[in-house]
Amino acid sequence: MATVLVVEDENRIGEILESALAANGHTVQWRRTGEEGTRAARTGRIDLVLLDLGLPDVDGVEVCRRLKRLQPQCVVVMLTARRDEMDVVEGLEAGADDYLTKPFRMTELLARVRAHLRRAAVADFVPEVFTNGDLTVDAGARRCAVRSREVDLRPKEFDLLARLAADAGRAVSREALMDDVWDRNWFGPTKTLDVHIASLRHRLAAAATSFDPPATIPEISTLRGHGYRLEVQS
Ligand code: CA
Repeated sequence: MATVLVVEDENRIGEILESALAANGHTVQWRRTGEEGTRAARTGRIDLVLLDLGLPDVDGVEVCRRLKRLQPQCVVVMLTARRDEMDVVEGLEAGADDYLTKPFRMTELLARVRAHLRRAAVADFVPEVFTNGDLTVDAGARRCAVRSREVDLRPKEFDLLARLAADAGRAVSREALMDDVWDRNWFGPTKTLDVHIASLRHRLAAAATSFDPPATIPEISTLRGHGYRLEVQS
């Protein structure tokens, strides 16, 4: 799982966050001041930060700026009191990815953390831009194109394609796809996966055949009893 840094000076909130995140399998570092939080980000990789904006020493927005400078890949979720709306705007400008207003529901916080970490993981293992034949998948820009004409994909279709592209030429199991694109706590029918693959194939094929002669794009093969593979052509 992930390393989560909690920067929060209120003991009660810090304790609840620490135990809930640890119970979800995360490694938690709880720091009570902006200086200590910044120091933690200097000494090891942090995947996500829960950052209280009202800290006793350094302004939370400034802490956010420092954290993003030290670890640009880390996700920063600000925790703020409702009266701090201007801080939220400044925090987002300083590079924060999200915010939650206190008091927040723990289930909502955990769901947000999970979603952010999942997205960060996908961004991590996908090369910035995958190109094969006439297909381009730009994970950073969330852009899929055939011969530089953009293909309109639904979010999950894009995630699936990006996940397959990250392991292009290799088999990706159904479990890995369900975990990475949906959620490890997804209890819905795994048929959802096949439906999305079918629709992804359809959209890519439609995009390819809209050219004359048709564009060349890698196929998505079904591996019975296992999963899928994005075929790469040399
Ligand atoms: Ca505080």
